[in-house]
Amino acid sequence: MKRRDKLGRGERLLISLAVACLAVAPAASAEEIKFKPGFNLFSHDQDIQIGKENVAEVEKQLPLVKDARIEAYVNDLGHRLVAFAPGNTDYPWTFKVVNSQDINAFALPGGFIYVNRGVLEAADDEAQVAGVVAHEMGHVVMRHGTHQASQAMLAQMPLAILGGVLGQSGSLTAELAQAGIGLGVGSLMLKNSRSAESQADEVGTYILYRAGYDPHAMAQFFEIIEKKYPQRTIEFFSDHPNPENRIQKVDALIAQLGPPNQGRRDSPEFQAAKKETLALPAPPKAKSDTQPAAKAISPPPAPSSRLTKYSADSFAIAYPDNWQAQSGQDSVALAPPGGVLTVAQGEWAQAYGAAVSKYVPSKKGFGLVDATQEMLNAMRQSNPNLRVVDQKGLRIRGRSALSTRIENDSPLQGQKETDRLVTVRWRDGIVAVLFIAPQAEFESYRPTFDAMLSSLELR
Ligand SMILES: [Zn+2]
Repeated sequence: MKRRDKLGRGERLLISLAVACLAVAPAASAEEIKFKPGFNLFSHDQDIQIGKENVAEVEKQLPLVKDARIEAYVNDLGHRLVAFAPGNTDYPWTFKVVNSQDINAFALPGGFIYVNRGVLEAADDEAQVAGVVAHEMGHVVMRHGTHQASQAMLAQMPLAILGGVLGQSGSLTAELAQAGIGLGVGSLMLKNSRSAESQADEVGTYILYRAGYDPHAMAQFFEIIEKKYPQRTIEFFSDHPNPENRIQKVDALIAQLGPPNQGRRDSPEFQAAKKETLALPAPPKAKSDTQPAAKAISPPPAPSSRLTKYSADSFAIAYPDNWQAQSGQDSVALAPPGGVLTVAQGEWAQAYGAAVSKYVPSKKGFGLVDATQEMLNAMRQSNPNLRVVDQKGLRIRGRSALSTRIENDSPLQGQKETDRLVTVRWRDGIVAVLFIAPQAEFESYRPTFDAMLSSLELR
């Protein structure tokens, strides 16, 4: 598990800022719906530049469907919808199909939209696919990617310096990297806040209506896929968190858009493209190794069965007495010798052991599930291949808790790791315990991890 600083303090800041100051949801009126993009340090042209730099990175990481008819279908549909998008739509729009059966779609700044083949396969009709594309278009025209990046940069650099830095060097990538914003699939620019989601929903619904589709199709599709394909939509809903009352909000907007339209649902072209997609050979396995792995180390000594206790402000936990504790502010990494590696300057990775931290979510009303999700999103910033395997409830000291099993790249060369994240609501946030071991060794660490968890005290 990679961290940018100790126990992701920077990431936590980043996330809370990204969610705190948001694009204001547009006030819809019967005559005119106004959509306003949020605060942004980048220019329209810089959106395109950043998008292009990201395209190269994304396409290194994701295989595309190379099938002229499927590509043409999605491209035509996308270009037809652009004509109905609000605001400045002067972007070099491209629409591509990713060869993955996960149900996912994303948009890079500057108009580069990717739809997984899984969307075409799961959709019942053209209106649903149009809804997904129109929603992504909403992220582009409201410039949510660079809005998020702006928030993050503002949090990390004084404004004066920022004003001078931006746009002076040839590559924005370097400046973004300085603020901890990477390119490609795991980039912060693809993680949308709930209010960015709401706005993309509104824009998407507006586009559907104006393009003559049933405007309910987008929100309905999101609801259907979440229920019907929970495993295949994890990534989508991680990057596009469900706004509260999605369907009701969209219905309220539709009522203001104008007289109900007949609402086209399907086309023979969609059914042909869907059939062709379903007939494609199975997609290639995801490339697991997109990051340089650290050097291999010899496995650490087995955990001692004698435990010792670590105490912080919010929690206390027992750990094997041959492990070391690296403590931060209300957080600690507990690892065997050699279990923590430095992978780059200021970036370290834990291959074995446990990490415990107090996490305060960005919103007061966040429950255990939301707070855990937000924490997982933050972890994904440094761990783009992190995948949730399953999640179940349990009780810790009489309090409800969540146990999330995760698969991730190990910092050890060519290996996968298994992580178990246990989160429990505590005071104004959650206490999170993360257990880490290479996949092949997780079972042998399990008794130690279980003993540690049952020793957890909340204070
Ligand atoms: Zn979205």
